[in-house]
Amino acid sequence: MSEQKIALVTGANKGIGYEIAAGLGALGYRVGVGARDESRREAAVEKLRAAGVDAFGVPLDVTDDQSVSAAAELLEQQAGRLDALVNNAGISGEFGPGWLQDPTTLDLGVVRTVVETNVIGVVRVTNALLPLLRRSASPRIVNISSSVGSLTRQADPNVDVGPIMAAYAPTKTFLNAVTVQYSRHFAGTNILINAACPGLVATDFTGRQGPRTPEQGAATAIRLATLPDGGPTGSFFEDAGVIPW
Ligand code: NDP
Repeated sequence: MSEQKIALVTGANKGIGYEIAAGLGALGYRVGVGARDESRREAAVEKLRAAGVDAFGVPLDVTDDQSVSAAAELLEQQAGRLDALVNNAGISGEFGPGWLQDPTTLDLGVVRTVVETNVIGVVRVTNALLPLLRRSASPRIVNISSSVGSLTRQADPNVDVGPIMAAYAPTKTFLNAVTVQYSRHFAGTNILINAACPGLVATDFTGRQGPRTPEQGAATAIRLATLPDGGPTGSFFEDAGVIPW
């Protein structure tokens, strides 16, 4: 079996996911660029290859069972193994002015779509790829979360967690809880799973507002995807260290 490590990044055609793919590629990983739109996926693969990354496209809509099964099949054929899975794909739902999502007026259809993408999508992809991850000598799973999902920070009057985001923030709290459940299940195995917050990053997601670059936002996820054996698991990190749940 090839010595080169294999990674899959979901939602890797742009933003933070693209930079995670680029960063893992620069470390020598062969990187699957998971993306749902063919032209955006192929453009990202081309750009990564031009930068010297061993990248290949993986058609992937995390909300679609068939798409996820087909992605697992493609990875089985292309690589036969997976060393790092970065569950990055995510959506915000609609924001009102000032990024407000008012809980009293939420569109429930939007809520369902955000949960389906940010939480159920992660479970769907993770479970489909677990057989491949289990063939790795050092499997790593990183769930891209957000500090706005930290209940501890939201309960602390001294912490500014920004506006109320009633559709988005709970999906990251949910994702964090799911991460803990997986880490408990994987206890005693070599699979390390953690959640990562990229900080406030200027991407399409934030309307290009935010102090951090996508490259800066990718750093914690890259570190967690390449943890040495015995590294932390079942935790939530940002650049500065551990975030309380
Ligand atoms: P972008 O909007 O730039 O990128 C999101 C990516 O997710 C795109 O590639 C998008 O694909 C993909 N995606 C969305 N839905 C699906 C789906 N159903 N199947 C497959 N791919 C999908 O956002 P960011 O790079 O900013 O965000 C990446 C992650 O970081 C998200 O999980 C977000 O919640 C998290 N985050 C971002 C912060 C920020 O400040 N930017 C702060 C905290 C967390 P497509 O191009 O097809 O839409």
